[in-house]
Amino acid sequence: GAPRPADAADLIARRDATFAEVQEHYYDAPPQIERGWREHLVDTSGRVYLDMVNNVTPLGHGHLGVADAVARQLRRLNTNSRFNYGSVVEFSERLAELLPDPLDTVFLVNSGSEAVDLALRVALAATGRRDVVSVAEAYHGWTIGSDAVSTSIADNPSALESRPDWVHVVDAPNAFRGRHRGADAARYAPEAAHRIHELAAAGSPPAAFIAETFFGNAGGIPLPAGYLAEVYAAVRETGGLAIADEVQAGYGRLGEWFWGFEQQGVVPDIVAVAKAMGNGYPLGAVITTREIAARFRTQGYFFSSTGGSPASSIAGLAVLDAYRDQGVQRHAAAVGAYLKSRLHELAARHALIGAVHGLGLYLGVEFVRDRDTLEPATDETRAICDRLLELGVIMQPTGDHQNVLKTKPPLVIERDSADFFVAMLDRVLTEGW
Ligand code: PMP
Repeated sequence: GAPRPADAADLIARRDATFAEVQEHYYDAPPQIERGWREHLVDTSGRVYLDMVNNVTPLGHGHLGVADAVARQLRRLNTNSRFNYGSVVEFSERLAELLPDPLDTVFLVNSGSEAVDLALRVALAATGRRDVVSVAEAYHGWTIGSDAVSTSIADNPSALESRPDWVHVVDAPNAFRGRHRGADAARYAPEAAHRIHELAAAGSPPAAFIAETFFGNAGGIPLPAGYLAEVYAAVRETGGLAIADEVQAGYGRLGEWFWGFEQQGVVPDIVAVAKAMGNGYPLGAVITTREIAARFRTQGYFFSSTGGSPASSIAGLAVLDAYRDQGVQRHAAAVGAYLKSRLHELAARHALIGAVHGLGLYLGVEFVRDRDTLEPATDETRAICDRLLELGVIMQPTGDHQNVLKTKPPLVIERDSADFFVAMLDRVLTEGW
């Protein structure tokens, strides 16, 4: 039945009693959100918030095209993809068309974690190897495989010491606060390539190198120019595969680029995608080459009960239709550039802003106590987010130091809303928090 009405505090108390502590929620005392419309969320008292973090709903909340298409399909048929029906084929074709050759073979799943896990299984099966190289400060998911290659200490403080022995971690290619900064960031790629060659020489050549194609967890930081080209070349020279995690960066969030790997000028061997694909309806995919997919056959067969079901395929098609009809990617590029320029104006007036990272609507506002030492303003970031909530903006910290504003609103966000966010942030930074 429908959830019992409750006030927000009572609801959180019931939630805490039923959920494990490890299952986090935003804010200590969150509002009860039961509705959304475009980039807005509405709580049960009728208060409207601007949702600046929701990278799962590129079309915004309550999108009628997706809602109506899925509702119609659920009334008509929903079953598994071993049956023969049109939508799963049509959606897979449309998805494959969005990718460059030779990426033409599609597996449909339900989430980003599943997509990353499957991408890893495909790589292991295709190469007959067991080792994988991933980068520090990364989040790739919660399943055993996707968690194994996740290295962010914000999500798991002991991440780096507790990776399984088949996972090899290279430096986070963070040009802002990593080991190599500014122009020196060009050194990350040869170092990662060297590590890959070392592993090969030691008799454990990696099955794959996996990375986000634009550095999301670290706060929307672009990879150094040429980074993926050089690291992909190294992993391929040693017979391994390049896996691109496009779960956050892909699907037009970067504005100018539909996929993050395009911005790096490379074509991966295996792409994992989810989040935006279903506008919140569970949907993910792995896209690879026919040849690599064929080698996965050695593992038996692949099947997911709800991955690629009629309803999820219809959701995927409705999202792609809306992208085309509403010009979503073009809009994201325009509003993203506008928002970034407004945030740069704030940075000129507020010393706490150490940098405004990102591209399109994959932005990160990084707070530092000192622009020379880059000491992360972690407590301040938490307090600023709490104050922004009072002012009607949903915003959360991200990054290993939790000092970056995770600026990833729905791609349909209006300029007025971007202005509202900047005005509220300006107010908090001016008045204190
Ligand atoms: N990869 C990346 C880059 C992600 O950001 C996420 C989710 N935050 C995942 C994978 C996992 O996706 P999901 O939560 O849909 O399992």
